[in-house]
Amino acid sequence: MEFATFATRAEAIERTEADHATTWIVADLLADADEDLETVVRFLLGRVFPAHETCTIDVGPALCREAIAKAAGPNVDTADVEDRLADRGEIGAVAASYDLGGQRGLAAFSTDGADATVAVADVDDTLREIAAVEGDGSEGTKLDTLFGLFNRLDPPEATILARLVLGEMRLGVGEGTIRDAIAEAFLATESESGSAGEAPDDVDGAASGDGEAEATEDGKVVVRESDDVLAATDADVAAVERALQVTNDYGRVATIARDRGRSGLAEQRLVVGRPVQAMLAQAGTAADALEEWDRAAVETKFDGARVQVHYAPPANGDPPTDENTPSNGDVGPKLYSRNMDDVTEPLPEVVELIEDRVDVPVILDGEVVAVDADGDPLPFQEVLRRFRRKHDVDRMREEVDLRFHAFDCLHHDGTDLLDTSLATRHDRLREAVPDLAATLTLADDVETIEAIERRALEAGHEGIMLKDPESPYTPGDRGRNWLKRKPDVETLDLVVTGGEWGEGRRASLFGTFEVSVRVDRDDDDGNGTTHTDPRLEPVGKVATGITDERLASLTDRFDPLVRSEEGTTVAFDPQVVFEVGYEEIQRSPTYGSGYALRFPRFVGVREDKDVGDADTLARLERFADAQ
Ligand code: AMP
Repeated sequence: MEFATFATRAEAIERTEADHATTWIVADLLADADEDLETVVRFLLGRVFPAHETCTIDVGPALCREAIAKAAGPNVDTADVEDRLADRGEIGAVAASYDLGGQRGLAAFSTDGADATVAVADVDDTLREIAAVEGDGSEGTKLDTLFGLFNRLDPPEATILARLVLGEMRLGVGEGTIRDAIAEAFLATESESGSAGEAPDDVDGAASGDGEAEATEDGKVVVRESDDVLAATDADVAAVERALQVTNDYGRVATIARDRGRSGLAEQRLVVGRPVQAMLAQAGTAADALEEWDRAAVETKFDGARVQVHYAPPANGDPPTDENTPSNGDVGPKLYSRNMDDVTEPLPEVVELIEDRVDVPVILDGEVVAVDADGDPLPFQEVLRRFRRKHDVDRMREEVDLRFHAFDCLHHDGTDLLDTSLATRHDRLREAVPDLAATLTLADDVETIEAIERRALEAGHEGIMLKDPESPYTPGDRGRNWLKRKPDVETLDLVVTGGEWGEGRRASLFGTFEVSVRVDRDDDDGNGTTHTDPRLEPVGKVATGITDERLASLTDRFDPLVRSEEGTTVAFDPQVVFEVGYEEIQRSPTYGSGYALRFPRFVGVREDKDVGDADTLARLERFADAQ
């Protein structure tokens, strides 16, 4: 597929408001993607690599702006690009505004007369090439390669490339839309629903008055009546969802759905060495838990960092016969963070522990906690000193002692356990790692739960987790099968979107940080769809709780993220998440969110969270209501 076609379709998707219409256009695009299907799916999600691969292209906003400036010609410098960014607020629009491809003049016609158009696969190859550049001078090589690519692109293509490079696609296409579109494109004709098998009305180059999807000049866009429903059934969508949970690879699932249908999807298995998304929890109380289930499984809530352990010991036999068979020999141990970053290297003692204790293939879920000399837990910030470290691992190992608490088992000795109950998974967990397994107590009255909570708090832990003992493990799901109960007022995890230079002694440091919540487009639609391109709205400014030393390191950190500056006020590229404490949430016209935090205070940087993991306006509203 030509990259220009992808860009035109993407533009149509971006301009489409209704969810159903978006799903149809995406489904149509997937159906037309042919051999580029996996790449198209990843690009739609703003990714170059599947989520389970720990690779990144490692190009920051500054380098991207420099590449655009370079491609825009000799009269343009990065300051000019930054001005336009301040003006337009979005890197894609800035890239499009320069007509980069138009700058190449005669170079557009390659000397051998070959077609100079760029294919989706060319962009993918080039971005992977950029990802692979390492060592001295790698910044320069990345810049040149990216510049070379921008130089070949027309405005709509440049928009997409700029966004892709920074991982912010802004098409309003989240993982839920892709899931639905895969079902619509490749499974709907298999299903037995009444409307199944009906091909969408393709419209070439013409707009139809009544449909919700917009047609574009070049792109083929599906237009249907606004009250039309999707042909894919709930069962189709569930089949895709399931395969996504197991494989954690949208491109791969799209290909399997297209080539092998539902049965192909159903055959997907966990693979030791391929991380899946972590199951997540909502806030809740003992009373909530007992109201929702007859009995609650109660566990300590450890204040540390989430780790998924993958291990298939070498002695265990033959290598897997195909990539879909759980590996039964020689993987890892590999450790992955909650965002599926590879954290094996920084945590050698966990690796040693697993190697020592485990003798069959496993996938375990758990928490790594920092402890003091007596083995008592230390605050969460301590574990982060170890977590992302690539250098001085041995020295840090001396300084910060770690414990690993395993609380779930997704795979044990050839058996996938996602669909079994928590109680069963815990039995297998105890079998796999008897002395690392967290204690799970079944309770059917509030008093027992409160007693466990008191003990957990006295021992220095954060609180307790309440889990439905009958529930399956649903990767990536923040449902009500797991409830977290913390006694303190919940802190909020907020995206840092701006700041202000300090005054006097602190004039060379950022002194105040503007923090924002996510406002997901369909926060309230109730059908579980989430978008990866959230809007961000401020809820307050954080200035207290930060030492001078910390301010200096935060200033270094935020300096490259400055997007625009006016007087002492700056806007940042939204990349960093702060944990913020507060006394109260008030309604307020001051901020776009409609709320303001009273006495916001900096608790720490949530290194383990991305912008997409930050708290939403919906959550803030719930907290405000509960006050
Ligand atoms: P939060 O980060 O506040 O949303 O709380 C959820 C997190 O608590 C999970 O992602 C885990 O990292 C952590 N956690 C600590 N102990 C447990 C446990 N026993 N079960 C599940 N999650 C736990």
